[in-house]
Amino acid sequence: MHAEARIDLNALQHNLLRVRELAPMSKILAVIKANGYGHGIVPVATALGDADAYAVANLEEALTLRNTGVDKPIVLLEGLVDKEELQQSSIQQLELVVHHPHQLELLEKVKLAEPMRVWLKIDTGMHRIGISPDSADAFMRRLYECPQVKKPIRIMSHFANADQADDPSIQTQFELFQSAVRGMTAELSIANSAAIFLGNPFHQDWVRPGIMLYGANPFPQGTAEDLGLQPVMTLSTRLIAVNTRRKGEVIGYGSTWSCPEDMPLGVAAIGYGDGYPRHAVSGTPVLVNGTRAQIVGRVSMDMICIDLRACEDARIGDPVVLWGEGLPVDEVAQCANTISYELLCKITSRVSLHYTP
Ligand SMILES: *Cc1c(COP(=O)(O)O)cnc(C)c1O
Repeated sequence: MHAEARIDLNALQHNLLRVRELAPMSKILAVIKANGYGHGIVPVATALGDADAYAVANLEEALTLRNTGVDKPIVLLEGLVDKEELQQSSIQQLELVVHHPHQLELLEKVKLAEPMRVWLKIDTGMHRIGISPDSADAFMRRLYECPQVKKPIRIMSHFANADQADDPSIQTQFELFQSAVRGMTAELSIANSAAIFLGNPFHQDWVRPGIMLYGANPFPQGTAEDLGLQPVMTLSTRLIAVNTRRKGEVIGYGSTWSCPEDMPLGVAAIGYGDGYPRHAVSGTPVLVNGTRAQIVGRVSMDMICIDLRACEDARIGDPVVLWGEGLPVDEVAQCANTISYELLCKITSRVSLHYTP
């Protein structure tokens, strides 16, 4: 018995349509980095064939797509670090995020077979990557003069707090972006999933949805369902043991939970070796035969223990859903003090992925 994840490609396509509905005038750069947020980059790319382009973090991910025949535009969100990567990216006709003078210098030095599409990334306040807004003019001038760069150039930035809808930094960053690009003829992009929901002014020429495509909620409050999204991954396993435990017996490593009464206790075949978060606390919900129950005690590498008092009929072999349909991944993420993004992309290779339809 081992854990499996069902990947609902219809739900993925539904969520893409949701992006179109929210931002009908914008092109969609579908973000499928980190193995499609853990869903499998190639099937995800195939199912998202109606997107206008794909975005990945690095060359390795882009090559995986090109090697399986994906010929749509692919944007490298982190750009690249050396001449070899630049040559390879050019051969594969990838598009490049330029966020540092180092990359501009590489482009100016190297001779490429064909000019490359470039997205200039401006740092408007996240202070991670990107050039400073007041150097945007100079960068644009050099990029325009560089024969290795395909014209027109595109310009992007990224919000630090788009998931905090009323955070004043959103407006500050947006205004800084607008003033940095004033007078430039370039397609613009600033909206990730959260900012797509914040409304039309942020959509600009290209939106960059990631987490919403996979049906999780980009905001800390509310539910993905209320946002019109459908969960794509349903992670499940089965019960490998059902035992009666006596009042006062302690459960699992560290003996962190003790039975308040005589009770049935289930053991399910999944643990942090599969990517189920070890930090999930006692009380984290699971579905046993479709009924809500709670995990108790520490998560081990291969097993979790489940309080079966809410599902007295449960038997060995019965299905246990960890998240997905009927149990939002966001809820589990909160119980593990993290975000859905991390849970989804940390599923390990021990979990087999099954695609429907
Ligand atoms: C990952 C990423 C996104 C997608 O963000 P979500 O919050 O998952 O929608 C968008 N833009 C950039 C630059 C990213 O790195």
